[in-house]
Amino acid sequence: MDSSHAAGQSGVMRDVVVIGGGVVGIAVAYELARAGAAVTVLERESELATECSSGNAGMVSSTHAFPIASPTALMQGLRWMWRPDSPFKLRPRTHLLPWLARFTAASTPGRADRAGALLVQLTQLGVELHAELADAGLNESLVRRGLLDAYETEAGIEAGRSEIAARHARGLTGELLSREELLEAEPALSPDLLGGAFYPDEAYCDPLLFARGLAAAATELGVRFRCGVEVLAPAKAGGRIVALETTAGRIAVDQVVLAAGVWSPPLARDIGLYLPIEGAKGYHLEVESQSGTPRLPVYMMESKVVATPLEGRLRLSGTLELDGMDTRVDPVRVGAIRRAGDHHFPAIRGAAVRNVWRGLRPCPPDGLPMIGRVEELENLLVATGHGVGGTTLAPITAQLVREIVQGLPPSVDLELMRPDRFRRLLPSRNRAANGSQAPVPA
Ligand SMILES: Cc1cc2nc3c(=O)[nH]c(=O)nc-3n(C[C@H](O)[C@H](O)[C@H](O)COP(=O)(O)OP(=O)(O)OC[C@H]3O[C@@H](n4cnc5c(N)ncnc54)[C@H](O)[C@@H]3O)c2cc1C
Repeated sequence: MDSSHAAGQSGVMRDVVVIGGGVVGIAVAYELARAGAAVTVLERESELATECSSGNAGMVSSTHAFPIASPTALMQGLRWMWRPDSPFKLRPRTHLLPWLARFTAASTPGRADRAGALLVQLTQLGVELHAELADAGLNESLVRRGLLDAYETEAGIEAGRSEIAARHARGLTGELLSREELLEAEPALSPDLLGGAFYPDEAYCDPLLFARGLAAAATELGVRFRCGVEVLAPAKAGGRIVALETTAGRIAVDQVVLAAGVWSPPLARDIGLYLPIEGAKGYHLEVESQSGTPRLPVYMMESKVVATPLEGRLRLSGTLELDGMDTRVDPVRVGAIRRAGDHHFPAIRGAAVRNVWRGLRPCPPDGLPMIGRVEELENLLVATGHGVGGTTLAPITAQLVREIVQGLPPSVDLELMRPDRFRRLLPSRNRAANGSQAPVPA
């Protein structure tokens, strides 16, 4: 996606099949179609963007794009592990150990710093591209008024002060606010809070409206969305994927983009590619908007809950649960999200909950997305692992995928995002069983 949303790109484009109709798959399809490709998206659900892309907090943000693996996250995660209502949960199990080992290795200051710098670069481009899409009429729900942090404690203010300094060092804007300044910026907040921060360059949107609006634009460009078609297994021959076995029969393919979010690893495993992505469950609950609900999005720093003002309702999102593919709702943690909302916004106390939602963020252990080609399979592109920032990152991911397909130099160095950057720590059971070698990526 570049500044011209009216014109397509030059370059030789081919038939592309995208696996997964979440925000990433949709953005990739739109971008490739704009460049002249014939694109088909296969989505197993009966509608597009029903999974993680539908109910997230909708922040289009570069200031809050921390890598999930960092010394601070590691320490905080350990402290929170034992509290049933904390914003973080880890269900210990053997299967998670290799992911945790990689997470710990990625949490050194040096690696976290490199990942942080890359995430800032990616998310800043993402924020710019969202603005361009909105200017072109392709994201009417984008609101560009900035984002507030709210602090309940002196410790929160101190943490906020150092976060702002770290953001300034990366060229991001943001300023600390006194309690009075915070309440002036957002009168819906409780006077019990101690202070806040304002980030003027941030935006937010209704993520479902964004994804489906982009899909509508992609359809006009000729993209074929085939909902209700699940990819069962890719068929490989001679270093290529030649076809996809699906619930609608075998589909021959030229180029394939794997954008199936947290469901990407099993499909990748079938073709010998190891993607250590864990599902990190998060929730939202929504209450009807009342007079006195906020006009700005607010990040409640101590409770790690985000309040997003959407049409007719206030969405409260939070929690990161490393609980495998378990999609059960934990009422204790949803209750904690509600309490944080009530504490920060007196007007919603007692308001009925409209709905509770959960989604699985696709999280690689180093917090960086997986974008790029894979050496062993010449016609496969991976675009997944967007973790906590897929809505923000979808447009820049799409641009990078388009640049790769067109053979153009990518606008961002892809090295740290290589999909095959992780070595398998233990041989997979399938591979060990049939005697083949575990893949050893470069
Ligand atoms: C509580 C919460 C808050 C969040 N807040 C933000 C935020 O403020 N800002 C932000 O940028 N991000 C946020 N995120 C993260 C964001 O939601 C994700 O990063 C993003 O939605 C991932 O998009 P995706 O397209 O990769 O995955 P998904 O939306 O999960 O899409 C994957 C699609 O692939 C389909 N699929 C899977 N397997 C197959 C198959 N075999 N065949 C065909 N189709 C298949 C699925 O049905 C699904 O539709 C949040 C997430 C959560 C949970």
